[in-house]
Amino acid sequence: MDAPRQHNAQPLPARTLRAPAELVAAGLLPAAALTGAEAVAARYAIAVTPAMAARIGAPDDPIGLQYLPDIAELETAAHEVSDPTADAPFTPVKGVVHRYPDRALLKPLLACPVYCRFCFRREVVGPDGGLLTEAELEAAIAWFAATPQVREVVLTGGDPLMLSARRLAWLVERLSAIPHLDILRVHTRVPVADPGRVTPALARALATGKAFYLCLHANHASEFTEASAEALARLTAAGVVLLGQSVLLRGVNDSVEALEALFRVMLRHRVKPYYLHHLDAAPGTARFAVPAAEGLRLTRALRGRLSGIGQPLYVRETPGGGGKRPVQADPG
Ligand code: SF4
Repeated sequence: MDAPRQHNAQPLPARTLRAPAELVAAGLLPAAALTGAEAVAARYAIAVTPAMAARIGAPDDPIGLQYLPDIAELETAAHEVSDPTADAPFTPVKGVVHRYPDRALLKPLLACPVYCRFCFRREVVGPDGGLLTEAELEAAIAWFAATPQVREVVLTGGDPLMLSARRLAWLVERLSAIPHLDILRVHTRVPVADPGRVTPALARALATGKAFYLCLHANHASEFTEASAEALARLTAAGVVLLGQSVLLRGVNDSVEALEALFRVMLRHRVKPYYLHHLDAAPGTARFAVPAAEGLRLTRALRGRLSGIGQPLYVRETPGGGGKRPVQADPG
């Protein structure tokens, strides 16, 4: 899947770009977009890894749209809310979200390798925030140990694979030692956005005696590279089960061809497409919205083109924290 990057002759960045001026200097954003991008940067985190910078051919291509700041982010539509999945009311202790009886989220940190312009937690994620202190993490682990109806822990954030391999191994070991936790799961962008982080030590950190599922967030086939293929192969070899989750996004994957290509590349990398998310109404994300009726048409069209293992469930959040529900034939 290697290719893109033809729009300019700038050398590829060697490190993650975080400042709008760096994005302009790298040829990813036009100079005319600098002032607007700086206004966005004052409110929301920005990060473009070398792996993703190499996949951007233009600011409005499917990869550029996902990661490059746009002044439209500062316009909040009437229906957009800062916590669309309503994590806060379901937080029994800091870092834990308990919404469903048998499973709960653990958010050890709120940093990510990249910052997606459509993120549903965009008001809280960022490079400086959200790392649980030792005492907070112990309190969160204690909550899981004292809550026997919870059988599955979902590590999310932020991106838990931003922790060091050593810290991750410690956390996985502590959670695995809780007898009633049968399943550990991690939600991550790292294997595609920053595949070099998936070292043999990191893959080993996830290998546990318990079932470990890694849910990979990717939205377009061209996010997959040779490096991400190697990262995913390392995880598979460690015994990690790979699932895929994607967001249906205008301009990124809002065609049956783009979705088919995405799910085919996932399957080739042993990633089972699990969820296709309807966009959550986070502030300043309206440009990515695809109406549910259109999403349903697309997912129905996919059924004639891909086998059952390539069909994710198309879901949306219920307002007020009611959780995910399959999208039915409801317009919107
Ligand atoms: S990686 Fe996930 S949590 Fe981080 S910015 Fe993207 S969507 Fe949000």
